[in-house]
Amino acid sequence: MKEKQKGPPLKIERLGIGYSIDVKHCYLPFVVTDVCPTCGDEVALDLRSSHISYPNIGDGSWLYFYHYREDTGDEHEWSRRVVLDVTLVEEPA
Ligand SMILES: [Zn+2]
Repeated sequence: MKEKQKGPPLKIERLGIGYSIDVKHCYLPFVVTDVCPTCGDEVALDLRSSHISYPNIGDGSWLYFYHYREDTGDEHEWSRRVVLDVTLVEEPA
C-alpha cells in the first residue's frame, strides 16, 4: 500500500540536455519502423527487445536496424538517430 505524502507540490527542475544514462542495455516501450535503404522493405525495430546503449536524454542516440531477407539470404544493416526525451512529474494524489 502506498503512503500518501502531504505537502506542497514538488518543485522539479530540469537540468540541461544531453544527459547520458549509464545503462548499456536500455529497453523501452516503443516500436520504430523504417524503410530499408537497400531493398525498400518496411522494417520494425521493437525497443522492448532491441536495446539502445547509453541513451542520451534530450540529445541524439543511435538506433541500429537489421533486416534479413529470407528469399535472398541477404542481410541489410543501417542506423538512424532518435532523441529520447523524458518527463518527470509528481504522481497525482
Ligand atoms: Zn532490406
